[in-house]
Amino acid sequence: MGITNIRYATHTLNFWWGCREKSDGCANCYARQFSERLGRHCFGDGPRHITKTPWHDVWRWDRAAGKTHAPEFIATRNVILTMSMGDIFERNPALDEPRAAAFEILSKLEYSTILLLTKRPENILEMVPAAWLDEWPKHIMPGVTVENQKAASDRIPELLRVPAHDYWLSVEPLLENINFGGLGLGRINWVVVGGESGGDPRECNPAWIRHVVNQCVAHWVFVWVKQMGGPGAPREAVEDLPVDLQKYRRSPWLFSPESETI
Ligand code: SF4
Repeated sequence: MGITNIRYATHTLNFWWGCREKSDGCANCYARQFSERLGRHCFGDGPRHITKTPWHDVWRWDRAAGKTHAPEFIATRNVILTMSMGDIFERNPALDEPRAAAFEILSKLEYSTILLLTKRPENILEMVPAAWLDEWPKHIMPGVTVENQKAASDRIPELLRVPAHDYWLSVEPLLENINFGGLGLGRINWVVVGGESGGDPRECNPAWIRHVVNQCVAHWVFVWVKQMGGPGAPREAVEDLPVDLQKYRRSPWLFSPESETI
């Protein structure tokens, strides 16, 4: 998987496909459904599918960004979502070796920002290279999925134990109203929020999305409204958002004509 349809990143990078369900947000896992459509039974007890080309492609993407790189324009960097077809911090002995190899590659990229996304932040400190704990690579931005209040309360404190420079949250699929009070929202650099999309999505009350946005604005956190979600909801074009939310396509980068800074 390479260039992505996800509008908040320039690429998605999957070192493997497959995972085990972790929490409520996994019920309609797109990665599992897509894998099964392709006949890859790499979820649950099945063996994970280790990919081949992304391991090489990522160097090409990084070099390509480097060719157009001008130090004063951060917009020329790649923004790579890692991973969308599994969880890089899944506890599974078969993944120890590929994970170590993946981290070796990620740490050497020069022109790419890595969005390292997980539902298992409790494993981060144990699973990343020891050198990262002494000096966390500036271009690697760990983040957690937060689909409900329990996930917020459990995962955000774990995320903030990681000695990274920047953090992000993927508040998607948003399944209930979430209050971030007391959870350190002000230390988070970027929040992506959206309701569930795809086949048979669960309801998402627009008021829940607005509440996330308002909390981010109050804490000076960049917020990107991805889609409203829910049954029959349009996809993630900015014009599909309610007018009052269309300006909240904000990110720390300027790679998209839809994004803006605060
Ligand atoms: S953690 Fe992510 S990839 Fe794994 S089952 Fe849940 S939604 Fe799917």
